[in-house]
Amino acid sequence: MAAKRDYYEVLGVSRNASAEEIKKAYRKLAIKYHPDKNPNNKEAEEKFKEASEAYEVLSDPDKRSKYDRFGHAATSSTGGQYADMDPYDIFDRFKDIFGFGDDFGSSNGRKSRGSNLRVKIKVNLEDIINGSEKKIKIKRSVLAKGIEFSTCRICNGTGRVHKVQNTIFGAMRVESVCSYCNGSGKVVTNMPPGVGPDGLEKVEDTISIQIPAGAVGGMQLQMRGKGNEPPGGGTLGDLIIVIDEIEHEQFKREGINLHYDLYISIPDAVIGTQVDIPYFGSKLRVKIDPGTQSGKILRLKGKGIPDVNGYERGDLLIHVNVWIPKKLTQEQQRIMQAWANDPNFKPSPDQSDKSFFEKVKEMFS
Ligand SMILES: [Zn+2]
Repeated sequence: MAAKRDYYEVLGVSRNASAEEIKKAYRKLAIKYHPDKNPNNKEAEEKFKEASEAYEVLSDPDKRSKYDRFGHAATSSTGGQYADMDPYDIFDRFKDIFGFGDDFGSSNGRKSRGSNLRVKIKVNLEDIINGSEKKIKIKRSVLAKGIEFSTCRICNGTGRVHKVQNTIFGAMRVESVCSYCNGSGKVVTNMPPGVGPDGLEKVEDTISIQIPAGAVGGMQLQMRGKGNEPPGGGTLGDLIIVIDEIEHEQFKREGINLHYDLYISIPDAVIGTQVDIPYFGSKLRVKIDPGTQSGKILRLKGKGIPDVNGYERGDLLIHVNVWIPKKLTQEQQRIMQAWANDPNFKPSPDQSDKSFFEKVKEMFS
């Protein structure tokens, strides 16, 4: 293999040429040396390949800066790659720079699928416990009203070009995506005023979203075909909804379990009582046995959160706290004093009165 020419020299541009200048230079050479214009011309094919390789390196800022510093040594891994390639495959690789892609502002153009739209949705514990339906407003990109297309005359609307189709290079011999219409089969013939070069405009839509019971913050729901429309029309992208969980004031969530802090009075703890705690639109009646210690944890089976992936449902753990008043009346003071030395009020925990730490250990085991 002969010594490699300098890439800038190959393209005929200066070392500080802009990306646009490099693109233009390659475009010119590619048209000049394209195999369809130079049938059976080995030299033209070599020049075309040489220019393509130079363009690949100089059009990529990262590869270009490496090339500027280290010369061909930096790109030896990619060098020579084009020597064995079919010129038509090379053309296919860079065809975005020849076609309609530029006008539509998309560098890897020819996708006829719109981009995905991501939105966050705030969800509270009520929504999560039972599942719920939410309505949100989204702004999507759709084809602008009044935009008109006509069938692409290059591919006759098929989006594919075949060997006999006419292009700026002459007759194409292989099938590939039509670079003139980016594979959409259509070209814009009327662009309404005020519409961007991609021919899209924003519209507001109201979307109904089903929040599954047991949803977790950060979870993503995907709605097919509710995203953006691609330039030129085609398959709509998806709408991706990210769950943003709002913390509840009273209930703390831990996976599928819920924790609730319950405060009861000294007499209720001693005598026993029934307490109604608010529970997502209804009430839960909790029985407090006589002699309930502060720190006791009551476990209500199945009153937690449904498992979003299964049939299981978590528990509600009620942490009982006995409320000690900070101020007493004289009468209360007198009674307390009288009980202070009563042996029945002396702490004497037995096996059933597990320590706080043992309870916590048990809870997480
Ligand atoms: Zn076309």
